Amino acid sequence: MNSQQAMSSTFCRCRVGPGDVRHCYALHMTVDREQLLAELAARIEQIVPAEALARQAQGAVLIDVREDDERAAGTVAGAVGIARASLPERIAAVVPDRNAQILTLCGGGTRSLLAADTLQQLGYTHVASVTGGFRRWKAEDLPLRFDTFDEDAAERYSRHLLLPEVGAAGQARLGAARIALIGAGGLGSPAALYLAAAGVGTLTLIDDDKVEKSNLQRQLLHADARIGMAKTESARMTLGALNPRVLIHTHERRLCAENVEALIRDNDAVIDGADNFPTRYLLDAACRRLKIPLVYGAVHRFTGQVSAFDARRDDSPCYRCLFPEPPAAGEAPNCAEAGVLGVLPGIIGLLQATEAIKLVLGIGTPLVGRLLCFDALAARFRELRLPRDPGCPGCGEKAEFSGYEDISRFCAAH
Ligand SMILES: [Zn+2]
Repeated sequence: MNSQQAMSSTFCRCRVGPGDVRHCYALHMTVDREQLLAELAARIEQIVPAEALARQAQGAVLIDVREDDERAAGTVAGAVGIARASLPERIAAVVPDRNAQILTLCGGGTRSLLAADTLQQLGYTHVASVTGGFRRWKAEDLPLRFDTFDEDAAERYSRHLLLPEVGAAGQARLGAARIALIGAGGLGSPAALYLAAAGVGTLTLIDDDKVEKSNLQRQLLHADARIGMAKTESARMTLGALNPRVLIHTHERRLCAENVEALIRDNDAVIDGADNFPTRYLLDAACRRLKIPLVYGAVHRFTGQVSAFDARRDDSPCYRCLFPEPPAAGEAPNCAEAGVLGVLPGIIGLLQATEAIKLVLGIGTPLVGRLLCFDALAARFRELRLPRDPGCPGCGEKAEFSGYEDISRFCAAH
């Protein structure tokens, strides 16, 4: 017998003849599953949702065996959520008594049957499956519970909910987070778009510019029809259309010595998308004093750089460990003077958004103490060590803070 014949004979117990192996295989899978479910349905008690509710009131434990992201859209009041695959390892902690009454529930009533079978194999003697599952429970208007997420959030953030590093707890943390963006321009555009899409609960945009045609080559928050509009207002329109759940605060003002602390206070992170040095030095000082992580980014022609300064950490450098003093006028031209490849701020701004999200979630290794440099023409990233400088005029041992006005004056003098 050759291998083809061997496979045919293996897969043709269905008696459709030694035809297409794939057909027979698919048929067997279906037949086996249907047989299994029929056998389980005959052996395991099935009850309607109303009966399950009544038994819950008498002390039965209802286990919702759907996946975490399904449950995030709502579950049965009083249910314990354990995904079916996790039952063997988790059920004993939730229901130690093998004689306790357990009810299993899934989306439509199939997985709950399989789960009930698993529980019986684990030695549980009083197990019943809820017919029609969560869909029927909901259709019959029985009590529900929405934990952190309504249906819109569960669907919108479903790809985050699938990541164990984010999950429901992380998404809730993002929803409670507040991030300020200084500048709704080249860096602020990609950062704000993705932070809003990711579900960061509150975004504060600070920018005093109006949209100009020359912005549109890279500042994707804005649109041709909105030339002349305040960038903060244009940004609010775009972000609101993308994710109406996000609260957008706007300040059409230039960050200055008098307002810097008030504008960024109470944020969990600040994205530095400023296009001038006085703003960067003010931001650095304020973030250090208020102990808010500052995610720095800058672009120049074909290159960009990004880092994170986290004043909550003793080992973190600050912006002035990198640039103790502003460059002399003319030494560091901005985009309007030197030009910039349009896609470049997109890349750097998204790296800033990535760092901000990591800082909020407390996952991964932040760019603290490292400067990541990108060269678009060479298509090369380079990482430089950026340790804290003990002699830094901002965060060093001898550094003294004599007010934001002094910083403004100091920047103006360069
Ligand atoms: Zn420093």
